[in-house]
Amino acid sequence: MIPIAQPLLGPEEARAASQAVLSGWLSQGPQVAAFEAEFADLVGVEHACAVSNCTTALHLALLAVGVGPGDEVVTVSHSFIASANAIRQCGGVPIFVDIEENGFNIDPTSIEAAITERTRAILCVHQIGMPCDLAAIRAIASAHRLPVIEDAACAIGSEIFIDGAWSKIGRPQGDIVCFSFHPRKVITTGEGGMLTTRNPAYDSKFRLWRQHGMSVSDVQRHRSTSVVFETYPVQGFNYRMTDIQAAVGREQIKRLGGIVARRRAIADQYAALLQHVEGVEAPKEVPWARSNWQSYCVRLDPGIDQPALMQRMLEKGVATRRGIMCIHMEEAHADLPRRHPLPRSEYARDHCILLPLFTQMTREMQDEVVATLVEAVASSGRSRPGRKVPAKMVVAS
Ligand SMILES: *Cc1c(COP(=O)(O)O)cnc(C)c1O
Repeated sequence: MIPIAQPLLGPEEARAASQAVLSGWLSQGPQVAAFEAEFADLVGVEHACAVSNCTTALHLALLAVGVGPGDEVVTVSHSFIASANAIRQCGGVPIFVDIEENGFNIDPTSIEAAITERTRAILCVHQIGMPCDLAAIRAIASAHRLPVIEDAACAIGSEIFIDGAWSKIGRPQGDIVCFSFHPRKVITTGEGGMLTTRNPAYDSKFRLWRQHGMSVSDVQRHRSTSVVFETYPVQGFNYRMTDIQAAVGREQIKRLGGIVARRRAIADQYAALLQHVEGVEAPKEVPWARSNWQSYCVRLDPGIDQPALMQRMLEKGVATRRGIMCIHMEEAHADLPRRHPLPRSEYARDHCILLPLFTQMTREMQDEVVATLVEAVASSGRSRPGRKVPAKMVVAS
């Protein structure tokens, strides 16, 4: 069986976790502080604050920019459900706009029409590691004086050419960037998240909120030579990362360059192989973006039966996943206003699949995936010729 993904972990991570355990300091402490400093260096940002996962990172980011009950946040439905859950945890209302024609990211040209006097923020997503058009988003946001939060859950190691230079995702082009270290992402700490910002006021808020709104950190209290009483100026949360996770994360950072280089080589190879596969379109990078290829999402001809194709591949030992979900089509968010049609999002969900891509993948495995795909396409009833996505699609009611 060729899995869809596989984290790259070794004895180095095991040793680091073991040392953290044996140090006697298990929760947010010196390893978390070191991980934050190394992460900030890596992406080129002033402040990095570790939290328990990306969903809690998004929650704190939205709270920091002032999203509260009834406030609207312009975002995509075509994302993992956590993007919208975090908005709703603040009492906010996600206002979904569609994705671009040739990719899976927010369509900047549809943002402006979604802005109302209730809009509090724009939450853009670097979907499956592909940077979204931050220059365009930033221009709209500044014209409307709205903060931009980047959901970069999948985008560690991705880069964007902006303001005349290549920049790592994580160096905020807006206000705050949120990352995930779930095992399905490019580097992992089991569970984990990170918030990056240039704004020290936001960073202080994150640090206060993540540990119960407590004025003094455990490390400060532990190291103090005089008695310290903490205070609780604000109501907070427990969104701490453990030192065991951070110790693993520090080892993962060392691997990131190699992991991303390998993923890019695999993606290039897929693109070369798929050129000869009829009915399947490889994803493309725009000239100003470099993906980390967290996922490899191919578009299928409209006539191909997506579930049948996936089933066929599974039976032949190749795991795939459906294209990115659409949050507005899930029961949990069925009550949200549907102001803007989302035909491209819906189309991409139902006519795309993710192919296996992981660092340890061999050339033989890749050949097998493509051979299996070719065979499955042939047997999943292509009813219509041509590979063009219809320009107009039916909008869900
Ligand atoms: C994975 C993911 C999240 C959630 O990350 P967790 O660390 O699991 O909370 C949020 N947004 C996007 C786009 C994701 O892919």
